[in-house]
Amino acid sequence: MELLADPNLLKQHCHAWRAQGLSIALVPTMGFLHAGHLSLFDHARTLADRLVVSIFVNPTQFGPNEDLDRYPRDLPRDLELAAAHGADLVFAPEAQAMYHPDHAAWVDVPELGRGLCGASRPGHFRGVCTVVAKLFGLARPDVAVFGEKDWQQLAIIRRMTRDLELGVTVVGRPIFREPDGLAMSSRNVYLTPGERAEAPAIRQGLVLVQGAVRSGELDVGRLGLMFRAHLAEKLSGARVDYAEFVHPEALSPVVRVDAPTLFAVAVFVGRVRLIDNILLEV
Ligand code: AMP
Repeated sequence: MELLADPNLLKQHCHAWRAQGLSIALVPTMGFLHAGHLSLFDHARTLADRLVVSIFVNPTQFGPNEDLDRYPRDLPRDLELAAAHGADLVFAPEAQAMYHPDHAAWVDVPELGRGLCGASRPGHFRGVCTVVAKLFGLARPDVAVFGEKDWQQLAIIRRMTRDLELGVTVVGRPIFREPDGLAMSSRNVYLTPGERAEAPAIRQGLVLVQGAVRSGELDVGRLGLMFRAHLAEKLSGARVDYAEFVHPEALSPVVRVDAPTLFAVAVFVGRVRLIDNILLEV
């Protein structure tokens, strides 16, 4: 497995592969890899001849009061895991190598990026889109794989890729969970043992809402209250950032679950902000 930090070398490497007729899959990550990331690598491996994994804690998607500086990092461990899960190349650049000092071009999908996570993280998806567009430009992958845990991100990247004709097939993969249901996340390491023990209540709340929908409760006001009441009871010290019912692609709010609806939540557990979602089908 190759490790590269220089964007130009990534470009050359991928160009050489394409010249040999080899197809390329890309999985962008911020590192501190867990089984959720690895499930993306395993799948991506089946979709193309070569697998490129990027590990980059992208500064432009973090707000001024967010956890950029304390985002967990462990490159040596990540390299071992990536190699064991079929990566042919890991691209792990420094921020200065990815952004020229006078970087001035941005990619944004404001209509999809304003709500949900975008409401409490202004500018976040502009940073995500810009870095993903840059990675697409450097590696020119045939296919790129993203997790449904970040559903809004996936919807935005699909729209960006379609609207800008970037020529990459965007593939979404299901949320990979701990045995107790907590969605895997690099940020889970920040949870105290007490918070970690209670955090599966988020997933339980999603499943509770799904059960209510299946029993015929379609009013999102009542469903939302059900979720909040569940968390208030099971997850002491949690604060719901949002719990919203939206159209799965347009991400626009819905008032009744009479068509497939995404129920997406973000919950502060202590200082840690966790996200999760479930697709409600009627
Ligand atoms: P991150 O390193 O958090 O930026 O995530 C990199 C990619 O892994 C994104 O496409 C995420 O949606 C995906 N991902 C993160 N956690 C999970 C998970 N638990 N299950 C599936 N995909 C995930």
